[in-house]
Amino acid sequence: MARIGFIGLGNMGLPMALNLVKAGHEVQGYDVNAEALSKLAAAGGTTTGSVHAASSGVEVVITMLPAGQHVRDVYLEAGGVLASVDPGTLLIDSSTIDVASARTVAEAAAAKKLLMIDAPVSGGVGGAQAGTLTFMVGGPEAAFERAKPFLELMGKTIVHAGDAGNGQAAKICNNMILGVSMLVTSEAFVLAEKLGLDAQKLFDITSKSSGQCWSITNYCPVPGPVPTSPANRDYQPGFTAAMMLKDLKLAQEAARSSGATSPMGAGAAAVFGQFVEEGGGPYDFSGIIRFLRG
Ligand code: NAD
Repeated sequence: MARIGFIGLGNMGLPMALNLVKAGHEVQGYDVNAEALSKLAAAGGTTTGSVHAASSGVEVVITMLPAGQHVRDVYLEAGGVLASVDPGTLLIDSSTIDVASARTVAEAAAAKKLLMIDAPVSGGVGGAQAGTLTFMVGGPEAAFERAKPFLELMGKTIVHAGDAGNGQAAKICNNMILGVSMLVTSEAFVLAEKLGLDAQKLFDITSKSSGQCWSITNYCPVPGPVPTSPANRDYQPGFTAAMMLKDLKLAQEAARSSGATSPMGAGAAAVFGQFVEEGGGPYDFSGIIRFLRG
């Protein structure tokens, strides 16, 4: 059994860490939030008081942090992960961050001869709890192979997407598709309402027609057709609109820096931006339909 340092024990990190504990690994965790640490301790993990302590004397470090700046700080600062780990420690960053930050940290790790992958996830808190996440991995083959047995304890689908940063590239492309498809799905349901077409009828037809997509069949933004969708519980998340906006902004940043054209992604970023500005941030991203209704 391995000793694992786990940094960032929030909505996603804590249940991921608990799956490693359940599998018999020794998890020493760190979070700036004391409440998160007590939850880990209550479930059989060990708590530490700093990034340095969490990454000392371990075989693997896993991070699950909010954004690029947190990841750069935690890995690169004095007393950070790179300065604290033993030689040979495997590094896994599962946060969703910008591709440039992921590549900067990966280069710094490589300069210290440390194997590192970026391994963002999809599947949300439910997937983290159930151990059914999808991991999109960027980094050297050797790091991927070493990480796989650990990722398999937290996820069901593990895909090696290429070199450092490609996991993040896959994640933002996927979420740009999701943001745009949820927005246009919501527009269609609002249009149907205005035209006097019943939502269930529209669902029955589009879920079997060429407009079919995940946002309709798995996560329908109106209550009724898909009983598990957040629309049936007043748009409690799920995946918040604030998180969706973050990912759409990351996609736009990447499109700008790489010279890719992305008018639909830009439109979705603008609309989700207004929704969040008007207080929609904590709600599920499918709550965008309420914003469209005005
Ligand atoms: P969260 O805010 O619940 O958790 C982040 C944790 O990191 C918090 O507990 C915070 O206290 C801790 N933290 C921040 N700075 C720290 C530092 N310097 N040292 C130690 N701990 C620190 O966020 P989350 O929902 O768990 O998401 C984490 C990452 O996963 C994000 O990048 C997010 O985009 C991504 N993600 C989230 C979901 C989701 O549905 N929530 C789904 C897929 C991916």
